Amino acid sequence: MAARALTGAYQRDRHRLVERLQASGIEDLAILHAFASVPRHRFVPEAVRHRAYADAALPIGHGQTISRPGVHALHLAFCELGGDERVLEIGTGSGFQTALLSLLAGEVYSIERIPELAESARRALGEAGVDGVHLTIGDGSGGWPEAAPFDVILIGAAAPEPPAHLYPQLTPGGRLLAPVGDPEHQELVCVRAREGSFDVETIDRARFVPLIGERGW
Ligand code: SAH
Repeated sequence: MAARALTGAYQRDRHRLVERLQASGIEDLAILHAFASVPRHRFVPEAVRHRAYADAALPIGHGQTISRPGVHALHLAFCELGGDERVLEIGTGSGFQTALLSLLAGEVYSIERIPELAESARRALGEAGVDGVHLTIGDGSGGWPEAAPFDVILIGAAAPEPPAHLYPQLTPGGRLLAPVGDPEHQELVCVRAREGSFDVETIDRARFVPLIGERGW
């Protein structure tokens, strides 16, 4: 009974979150539908579950954070997903964005360097009924060359500089989104693979945990 009451409360909170995202300018119906479908409360630790649908970043353990829903929504909007894309996510973290991507893209690959987070993400994805995503544990700073090319590469942690070594893993027309900078000053950068060149556009200021690894910090 209590569990059912809680599920109802989460549904209401989730509905309000979708309304807030819409009011903030997110117009893509597929993105809004994904937020309405994915149970964010299953992807955050018990201690912060009551804040799962606030537009807030939350701690997920091991010094890492799940981004604000508004940030995920903005990043997904820049990915321009039509449903068929092959996507690489670097930094699975909680697995929440992985779940959103599974609804918005064709094939999702995701790498996480902290084994405990990768395992709890795998569990949460299973509980949320998401299957078919390719999860692996390791340093994703060099991408996933064996599974490349990707139409979209999303980096969830801040790289020291625009990761040009990943551009060859993009399809023609592909998009890469990455926070770039040190822990205090970061910018969200969107790279587009054009014929023979790459356009790099700065979108916004950003604040992410560092990308740690061979091609990170
Ligand atoms: N989108 C995720 C972001 C989590 S925070 C979410 O909302 O939950 C970023 C994640 O990137 C952390 O879990 C961190 O451990 C991971 N990370 C940092 N450097 C990495 C690397 N080189 N390879 C793979 N994952 C990395």
